[in-house]
Amino acid sequence: MSSCFGILVLRKAGHDASSLAREGLRFTHVRNPKQRWEGVSLGLEDCIFCKIAKGEIGALVYEDEFVAAFNDLNAQAPVHVLIVPKKHIARLSDVTDNEDACIMGKVLLAANKIAAERGIAEEGYRVVVNCNEGAGQSVWHVHFHLLGGRKLGWPPG
Ligand code: AMP
Repeated sequence: MSSCFGILVLRKAGHDASSLAREGLRFTHVRNPKQRWEGVSLGLEDCIFCKIAKGEIGALVYEDEFVAAFNDLNAQAPVHVLIVPKKHIARLSDVTDNEDACIMGKVLLAANKIAAERGIAEEGYRVVVNCNEGAGQSVWHVHFHLLGGRKLGWPPG
């Protein structure tokens, strides 16, 4: 996916900085007054979860062919692990085909394995995906929060 870097997308196509950020894409404004076009240079190099999943930064607590997992920087429970597909998918609602649906299944299998490894499988754990801003999504690479190790209230805030 990182080969997407450098692609020009004309502003006419309806993209702006925030719509691109929601795809996990870097926005760099490009303007050519002579030819009277405007555009954006975009790439996935800046997706923090892609970098973590590739092992370029941070530390993984689980990894397989399709999935990577790491501790949340701002843990909300004694166990708070983020589980991500290695493939860059910006949000859960972008999962529309069987291939990506299978990858989401791999993420859930990883959640079960990690919960067992962390000793929270019996007492109970929660898997949460925030999809889009209204639900609290703040990083535009789909991620499943695995939470446990304390009593979890319901409904969530
Ligand atoms: P969400 O608000 O559902 O998009 O969740 C994003 C989560 O990513 C938050 O819980 C953040 O604490 C966490 N987070 C952001 N950046 C990092 C990072 N570099 N390493 C680990 N967790 C992160």
